[in-house]
Amino acid sequence: LKGEPLGTARPVQIVVADEEEHSFLLQEAALERLLLREEVQDLNVVVVSVAGAFRKGKSFLLDFMLRYMYRQSPDSWVGGEEQPLTGFTWRGGCERETTGILAWSEVFVMEKPDGSKVAVLLMDTQGAFDSQSTIRECATLFALSTMTSSVQVYNLSQNLQEDDLQHLQVRSATLFIMLMVILCCQTLMFLVRDWSYPYEHPYGLEGGRSFLEKRLQVKPNQHEELQNVRKHIRSCFSNICCFLLPHPGLRVATNPHFDGRLKDIDDEFKKELLNLVPALLSPQNLVEKEIGGVKITCRDLVLYFKAYMKIYQG
Ligand code: GDP
Ligand code: MG
Repeated sequence: LKGEPLGTARPVQIVVADEEEHSFLLQEAALERLLLREEVQDLNVVVVSVAGAFRKGKSFLLDFMLRYMYRQSPDSWVGGEEQPLTGFTWRGGCERETTGILAWSEVFVMEKPDGSKVAVLLMDTQGAFDSQSTIRECATLFALSTMTSSVQVYNLSQNLQEDDLQHLQVRSATLFIMLMVILCCQTLMFLVRDWSYPYEHPYGLEGGRSFLEKRLQVKPNQHEELQNVRKHIRSCFSNICCFLLPHPGLRVATNPHFDGRLKDIDDEFKKELLNLVPALLSPQNLVEKEIGGVKITCRDLVLYFKAYMKIYQG
């Protein structure tokens, strides 16, 4: 794999929230600079988005995804024990709170097992959708990133001990999941962080599957709206999965000087990370973006972004 060194590539804002107008703006020039590069514009595109609320470890995960994309060899991609994490995480203070969609400036060219080349775009979608007042806007943002991605990783922080928090999550999640279902996404992964019940459902994809089965069960005593959402989710997504990730350890969660080095991260977490990232990005697992059953190129994606933005502005 060749590519620009991590030093010069960076996150680029492609969709910005206009807080006053309660709308979103597409940074067309920035998007075109990424996707209309000679080497990628005619390749089929794979778009992997990580979406969710602020401060839930999205950037942290994306930085490991970048390590995988820049890997030197398949078994050493995760990096050295003393190597700080770089990429999406380390940016100017106020920029971190920006609602919108960021993309990694380098669109990666990868070869699939059949020898065909695809372009891989990584996106970071974030909004403050824990707060009730912004649910509508965030639903719009998440629908937008879901429509333009081939794999949407919905990053959730799960603490089943805090009932209120859980309800809040379920309510806001319900809203934009319904939107995503209507607009139809290809692959949706629920990524549950800080999973603390491995004895009920083990970490990883297998435990995630049984957890999801249970969550999507339609029960006769459930509110009708919730029943319908569950039925829709089951029928609409061609590929819906769930991954249960352990807590990364106290140094990651609470030490202000933590800079992402592996030696500060719990072994259990690292072990699951080694399964999670290739499940999303290894050549045989790459999902090309399709619209109406047809694979689209980077060039097409620019047009779709513009068209989708118009829908929301109109
Ligand atoms: P983002 O706002 O969602 O992009 O979150 P960041 O990746 O910037 O991480 C926010 C904080 O959570 C940082 O202090 C991370 O070290 C920490 N963090 C990262 N991953 C996890 C996780 O899986 N669980 C917990 N509890 N904290 C995490
Ligand atoms: Mg972030």
